[in-house]
Formats: sequence, structure tokens, C-alpha cells
Amino acid sequence: MKKRIGIVGGGQLGRLIAIDAQKLGFIVNIIDPTLNSPAGQVADHQIVADYNDEKAIRKLGQISDFLTFEIELANAEILDELAKQGLQINPSAQTLSIIKDKLAQKEFLRKANIPVADFIEIKSTSGDITSHSGERQRLQNQDAGHTPGGTGARMTIKKEILKAAQQFGYPFLLKARFDAYDGRGNALIEKEDQIDKGIEKLRGRKLYVEKFVPFIKEIAVMVGRNMKDEIISYPVVETVHKNNILNYLLSPAPIDKKIQIKAQKLAEEVMKHLHGAGMFGVEMFLTKNGDVLINEIAPRVHNSGHHTIEANETSQFEQHARAITGMPFGPTKMKVPAAVMMNILGGRDGKAEPQGIEDAEKVPGVTVHIYGKLQTKVDRKMGHITVVGETVEECLAKAKKARKLITI
Ligand code: AMP
Repeated sequence: MKKRIGIVGGGQLGRLIAIDAQKLGFIVNIIDPTLNSPAGQVADHQIVADYNDEKAIRKLGQISDFLTFEIELANAEILDELAKQGLQINPSAQTLSIIKDKLAQKEFLRKANIPVADFIEIKSTSGDITSHSGERQRLQNQDAGHTPGGTGARMTIKKEILKAAQQFGYPFLLKARFDAYDGRGNALIEKEDQIDKGIEKLRGRKLYVEKFVPFIKEIAVMVGRNMKDEIISYPVVETVHKNNILNYLLSPAPIDKKIQIKAQKLAEEVMKHLHGAGMFGVEMFLTKNGDVLINEIAPRVHNSGHHTIEANETSQFEQHARAITGMPFGPTKMKVPAAVMMNILGGRDGKAEPQGIEDAEKVPGVTVHIYGKLQTKVDRKMGHITVVGETVEECLAKAKKARKLITI
């Protein structure tokens, strides 16, 4: 009988895992709140429910032999309980809990002696500012001097931030600990008078302060472990962001060979400290001195590994399916000299109407992936382009040309 994989989350990552898992002979079930979600369109079965719906996750567990997730928002407690009941869940719920909290993630890395930017926890929270409008009003009154002598949550947070600023200097980053992907939980503070705006932007969220890293490049490594404890990593890519969202990546990263090896080793080192099987995305900063610092870990397949479908001997998605089902890994080597992956981000809000795909695919070396999202939004990830060729420069020029031909 065919074995079944259950995926919590039905976005593009779930879709791309489902496609490769089905090629390996698995049945794929998913949970997503949106009917006909990107993964739902290709999966064998979709449970329409929220990612944190306990009953739905249990149901997914009942109809699957292996469970995984494509989002960090998945309910770690239920996954942990299901694992204790004997279901194979990977990566482990314990890993998910560490990674979900960006501060816990940094603490975990620092403890493992893995280089990260300096950071300081902000202990006070402004939870009461957003959750109770009365409290917000009270604090506004305090700020305006209506409650002489009172020190509100905002003031305490500011004091803590000022203390961190004294230690780190400007600029620095104020970061939200939870639900902070694609830069949505960050505020860059360049001088003291921007602190209030930063607190306001991230109000109601638990925060920490991180020292600014003057990096020369951002790089990333996809790394994985299977159930036999074998660890693999992919060649390093350079990632180029726009508005905090990945715009395109170059593979292999145009960096010194020694740094490539160092970054790959570092990603493998991270993997040794994390529990469970699966693919992980490790984002890093490269400084002009050749130092490599870890910025962030994603406990799942990642945007910085999308090119592997066309450019590497085994895609990150197939590797993930292999890792969580007890199969051996495939080779990670590139099968072409160079590749570029460029995201197709929405340019407006409304019904998605993908056009120009065929024309874009006429550009030599180009493959277009459209995720099947029904609604487009400004900066929403709607698809991606992969270009394979002889050099990253040539691939990038073709990716830009192909991207211009596509509207969505
Ligand atoms: P994040 O969502 O925390 O990964 O941050 C999004 C982007 O903000 C990163 O890709 C970097 O370009 C930038 N960034 C984050 N943290 C730092 C830092 N400590 N120093 C400099 N830039 C940063």
C-alpha cells in the first residue's frame, strides 16, 4: 500500500513538496484554511481548517503515516502530543518551538557557539497597549503628560531599548520575536528619535534588539538530516532582497571557495544541534572580513532552495520527502554550471491572472513556476522563475528578461 504524507500548510512550499513526494510514490494530504490552496490543487486530499485547529491536525495524523509542516505557525504543542502518541512528525516539535521564537533561536545558536549578531532581550512588553484600548488611552495620556510621574509600558520599553543602543550603537534593529517573516517584524533604528516609531510599528509584540551587521552579501545554505542522522547541504547561494523579501538568488554564490566551504560547514553544524529530520534553510550574513554569521533558520524547505528543482541533482522538496519518510538522501550537486531563481511577486491587489508564461519560457534556460494562488497582492509570492546556464551573470540577465514578460 502507498504510504501517506500529511503536510500542515497548503502554500507554495507544500505544493512543491507534494509534487515531488507524489513522484516518489506517496499519497499527500494537507491542511489549509483556504479551499483550493496552492498545495490543495495538487494534493490527494485537503482538510480545510486552520493550521492550529487541534481536531483537524489530529485527523491529518489519522490519515497520514508521516507528518510535516511548511509553516512555522503550526501548533507545536499538538504536534508534540501526536509525536508522543507514536506518529512520525518531522522536524520535531521541539525544534519548531525554538525556531518559532527568533530570540530563543538566537539564544540557542549562541549557546551552541555558532556566530550570530549580538542581541538583547527587551523584557517589558507592550501587549497591553494593543489588547486594551483603555490601556492604550491611559498610556497616551501618560505620554502627553496627563499622568505626571507615571511610567507606562512604552516608557519602560524605551528605557530598555536606549540601554541596548548604548551598548550596540546606531543603527540597530528592533525585532519582533514571533510571526516575523519577510522582514515584517523588523524596524531599523538609525537614530534615537526613531525609537518611538519602531515601538509603534511593532506594538503589542514581544521584542529584542539586534546589533546591525554591515554585511557585504547575504548568503544561504539549504541543509538537511534524514532519519538515519545523515546530514547533507547544498552549495551556497547568494540571496538578494528587495523590501526585505527575497528578489533573486545566484547559485553558486559568487564568493571565495573558502567561504563557501565555511558557510556550508556552519549550516551543517547548526543541523547537528537541531532535532528531527527534514530540510532547513539557513540564512547568513557575510562581512568584508570574511566572517559568516547566522541570521535566521527556517525549519522547512525554503525560498533560497527553489532553484534546486532544475539546477541540482535532487530538489530540496524531494529531499524533504525523503528525509521525513526514512529514505536515503539523493545527491545535492548542481547539474548545471550556474542558476538564478527570481521570485514572481504580485504587483497589485485582486484576482490573479497569470499572463506571459509561455513567452517567458521561450527565453533559453527558463522554467516558470506559478503557484496557483487565486488572489494576487502587492509583494505576494505568486510564483518563481528558474534560469540555468553557463554563468550567474548570463542567468540573471535572462531572469530579468523573462520576469518582464510575466504579469500576474
Ligand atoms: P529578518 O526577517 O530578520 O531575516 O530580516 C530581513 C532582512 O533585514 C535581512 O535579510 C537583512 O537584509 C536585514 N537584517 C536583518 N537583521 C539584520 C542585522 N542584524 N543587520 C543588518 N541587516 C539585517
